[in-house]
Amino acid sequence: MAHSPEKTRGPPLWGPKSSSPLANETQHFERWRKRTWQLHASVLLSHLYAFMLFLGHCWAGYVPLHAVLLYGLWIGAGMAFITWAYASGWSQTQSDPGLFFWHQLVSVTGVLGLLVAAPPVAFQALVMLLVFSTDGFLAPRRTSFWMTWSCTLIAIALAVYWAGPQMRMTTDTLIGQFLTVGVMLGAVVRCSVLVTYFRGMQYRLSASNEKLALALKQIENLVRNDDLTGLANRRGVMDRLQQCIHAAQRRDTPFCIAMLDIDFFKQVNDRYGHEGGDQVLRAFGQLLSSQIRATDCASRYGGEEFLLVLCDTQLAQAGVLLERIRESTEALPWTQLVHKDLRVTCTLGVTQYRQGETAEALISRADAAMYRGKAAGRNRVVLA
Ligand code: GH3
Ligand code: MG
Ligand code: MG
Repeated sequence: MAHSPEKTRGPPLWGPKSSSPLANETQHFERWRKRTWQLHASVLLSHLYAFMLFLGHCWAGYVPLHAVLLYGLWIGAGMAFITWAYASGWSQTQSDPGLFFWHQLVSVTGVLGLLVAAPPVAFQALVMLLVFSTDGFLAPRRTSFWMTWSCTLIAIALAVYWAGPQMRMTTDTLIGQFLTVGVMLGAVVRCSVLVTYFRGMQYRLSASNEKLALALKQIENLVRNDDLTGLANRRGVMDRLQQCIHAAQRRDTPFCIAMLDIDFFKQVNDRYGHEGGDQVLRAFGQLLSSQIRATDCASRYGGEEFLLVLCDTQLAQAGVLLERIRESTEALPWTQLVHKDLRVTCTLGVTQYRQGETAEALISRADAAMYRGKAAGRNRVVLA
């Protein structure tokens, strides 16, 4: 029987494949269907094995033939019903599409019936009961699990009370001993199948956890980084800025920010196309990354505007760095990188954090300094 995914609905177990537009849901359902089928086949096999063993006991004279045949009929009818329910899709209309309850009902009542009808094979029946009850671990819900185990235990107690003194262990003959070992062997194999199933589930869970963690990391990257340049985006740089403000408030350490804007960028787009403009943005982003320290943060604040956060830096030091960035921008071999005749410059406004001010106030001071640089003719660094 199969552990059923909550609220999973779909086509019959061996019917036509799902045509759901949600590929993931279909895949999940297909995997569940395959596992359900495998578990059902393994339960069928263990019933067949148990039936053969009881036939052996009958042949050795421990059980009357009619008891074994009745047992076989009951289990056979139950398994045929469950197989039909899977194949026709009826199981999908149930709250537990894995038909856990029906599997348990057929197995437990079958073996208990045999125990009462043929107490000389009581030991065998009890071992099989235990084995089939371990399938209770596959219960889809906690309540079904406890219900199954309580009902099975009560039924065992009643059956033991009923059969009482006639219960035997078939170890008085060689064939009986052989059959007893056979029962134990079946029990071990069935338990191994279950353990393997749970191990598989555990592996699948940890694999999907790893995939989830990776996807989460990618999402986090997308949320905080700019696709085009690979630098931090506005959200990423604002987080970094807040961290710097907290550090500056705690330890009174200086830090600066700089707003950079590429000059006449619209003309770059107009002349060399949007792709040419993008190439300039990418190259400019790389230049910024190569010029700052690992503890600083370079970001694309929006369009062709970039914001730098320079930790542990005084205004004068920042001015030197930004002048270097301005010169490097001008000196970059743009004609090789994007297009001949291309010349790119940028205007930079830089300011130092003042105790108690907000990130917004700090940014607007850097912005104002940058616009003063634009008004003064561009391609320059303005300290605020
Ligand atoms: P100024 O010197 O005054 O800054 O002039 P400018 O032309 O750079 O001025 P403005 O800020 O008005 O122009 C920015 C242009 O940047 C407009 C927009 O089309 C372009 N832009 C914004 N984002 C992107 C982008 O991701 N890729 C490209 N190729 N262009 C962009
Ligand atoms: Mg510009
Ligand atoms: Mg601009």
